[in-house]
Amino acid sequence: MSECLFCAIAAGDIPADVVHSDDDAVAFRDIAPQAPLHVLVIPRAHHANAAALAAEDAALAGRLMALAGRIAADAGVADDGYRVVTNTGDNAGQSVHHVHFHVLGGRGFAWPPG
Ligand code: AMP
Repeated sequence: MSECLFCAIAAGDIPADVVHSDDDAVAFRDIAPQAPLHVLVIPRAHHANAAALAAEDAALAGRLMALAGRIAADAGVADDGYRVVTNTGDNAGQSVHHVHFHVLGGRGFAWPPG
């Protein structure tokens, strides 16, 4: 099994509540949801963070952004608004070093973030 948690989820080695799966992406519900909708969008390929993803496969980054929008729309939160977040590095609180986009919706969010 991969030592990377999200590589293992993408491979199906660790169970997750998957809401979307295709050739190059998986989306699954966050295990500790921070909003009524809290889905993580990941590439199957391992990229450490968003900057690495953009440098290594910009087209894939674009597809993941489009998928995040579709997930929000399919969940019915697009009209009211939602947030897509990617934490990069320690100051941002990144805890899993396989790039992931949090898709959060179903409630209001404060700005600036804490
Ligand atoms: P981050 O802190 O931005 O790196 O986000 C990592 C996210 O992964 C957190 O919101 C965690 O709750 C979530 N997470 C950790 N382990 C799992 C898991 N096994 N299944 C689903 N989500 C997870």
